Amino acid sequence: EQDVSEYKKSLAIRVSGFDASRPIKTFEDCGFSVELMKAIAKQAYEKPTPIQCQALPIVLSGRDAIGIAKTGSGKTASFVLPMIVHIMDQPELGKEEGPIGVVCAPTRELAHQIYLEAKKFAKAHGIRVSAVYGGVSKLDQFKELKAGCEIVVATPGRLIDMIKMKALTMLRATYLVLDEADRMFDLGFEPQIRSIVGQIRPDRQTLLFSATMPRKVEKLAREILTDPVRITVGEVG
Ligand code: ADP
Ligand code: MG
Repeated sequence: EQDVSEYKKSLAIRVSGFDASRPIKTFEDCGFSVELMKAIAKQAYEKPTPIQCQALPIVLSGRDAIGIAKTGSGKTASFVLPMIVHIMDQPELGKEEGPIGVVCAPTRELAHQIYLEAKKFAKAHGIRVSAVYGGVSKLDQFKELKAGCEIVVATPGRLIDMIKMKALTMLRATYLVLDEADRMFDLGFEPQIRSIVGQIRPDRQTLLFSATMPRKVEKLAREILTDPVRITVGEVG
C-alpha cells in the first residue's frame, strides 16, 4: 500500500477537456501549441501515423492506455507529444524537484532514440530531458540529474541506481511510459519495473507499449494501469 499523502497533491494529473471519443486525422486536431506545431513541422511529419491517430486523443485526454503496434509505426511520438502537453499543464513548473515524465525502455539504444525524439519536441517549450542508461559514467548522470529535468528516459536498472544514489526522486512524476514492455520482460526487468512503478503516485497517467502481449505483460498491465484503453494497430501477435 502506498502512502499518497507524501505526494504533492497540487499537481495536475489529467489534461482536461480533450475529446477522446474518436481518432484525430491531423496534428492540427490535437490542439497543440504553436511552438509544438512548429517542432512537428520541422520533423516533416505530414500527418499522424495510424497509431498516432488512435492514441493521441486518448493519451491527451489523460487516460491510461495500452498500445500494441509493430516497430516503426510511430509509437514514440504518440506518447512524447502528449507528455509535453502534460508537463506544460502543470502549475508552478520548476518549483518542485524530479521528473514529471518518466519513460522506461529495455536497452540503452532504445532509450537513446526516445531521448533524441523527446528532445526535438521538448525544446519547443524549454523542457529538459535527461537520458539514464548503463555504459555511461554514473557520476556524469548523477550531476545531470541533480541539475534537474522534467523528462527522464531510462533503462530500468540504471534508473534504480540513480534513485538509490538520490540523484532524483519520483515525487513529482505523474506520467509514466513503459515502452517495449515485452522486451523489458524478456530482459528480466520485471522486478525493476515494479520497483519504479511503486515509487510513482498511483493516480499517475500510465501508458504501456508493446509489440506483443504475453500473459506476464497482461498481468502487469492489469495491476498498474487504471481502466486502460487498448489500442491495437495492424496485425500483431
Ligand atoms: P516505433 O516506436 O513504433 O517503432 P518510432 O516512434 O521509432 O516507431 O517511429 C519510427 C520512425 O517514424 C521514426 O524515424 C520517426 O521519426 C518516424 N515518424 C514518427 N511519426 C511520424 C509521422 N507522423 N510521419 C512521418 N514519420 C514519422
Ligand atoms: Mg518504439
